[in-house]
Amino acid sequence: MASGAADDAVVLFSGGLDSATCLWHAAQNHLHVYALHFTYGQKNMNKEGMAVRLLQRDLNGRYLVGPDDRFQEKASMHVYAMPIFGATSAILSGGKGKMDKVQDLIVPGRNAVFLSIAYAFAAQRGARHVYLGAKRSQFPDCQPKFLALMAEALGLGLGAWSPVDLKLPLLGWSRQQTLDYARTLGVPVATTWSCYEGGTVPCGECGACLDRASAI
Ligand SMILES: [Zn+2]
Repeated sequence: MASGAADDAVVLFSGGLDSATCLWHAAQNHLHVYALHFTYGQKNMNKEGMAVRLLQRDLNGRYLVGPDDRFQEKASMHVYAMPIFGATSAILSGGKGKMDKVQDLIVPGRNAVFLSIAYAFAAQRGARHVYLGAKRSQFPDCQPKFLALMAEALGLGLGAWSPVDLKLPLLGWSRQQTLDYARTLGVPVATTWSCYEGGTVPCGECGACLDRASAI
């Protein structure tokens, strides 16, 4: 493990199972992780917000080893409002459509925007690693080719002065493989929030709930 800011990692963190697994994985491999969370009008915004804070607190609690570490958070939280997507998807407030087919769930351009911001964020802080918890998925912006090309383009855009690499520890994994790894890492799975709805309990019917139920 290298030391200093260059070893730090930026993790795109929604508060769902995949990104929480990614965050726990990154915490094991880096001295400090920046958890980057976006609000963009998603219906489950409040539930996600609650999950990311509870998960961050849980993770930081695991790495506190003595009084000197009180002010040294393992994972710092950075929340940004990104209201550019409009009601382009059923998972956004005002969006139309059911929430069971993949085309109802796509937010066009989401990972392109999030990755661009994560790379800029990393470069500003001298961190050299960006993590995304993309697993096997039908979303076009979770496909290996797109992610490889984005990483190449963003790397070219930053130039040799700010080398940043994209790490995709869950790429190609199924929901079950991700869940098994999450349990190995000690992720508090029940604290994560996957449901696209914003109710007090998961709806049990949306694509995320069905996917999650098939594994748990
Ligand atoms: Zn649901």
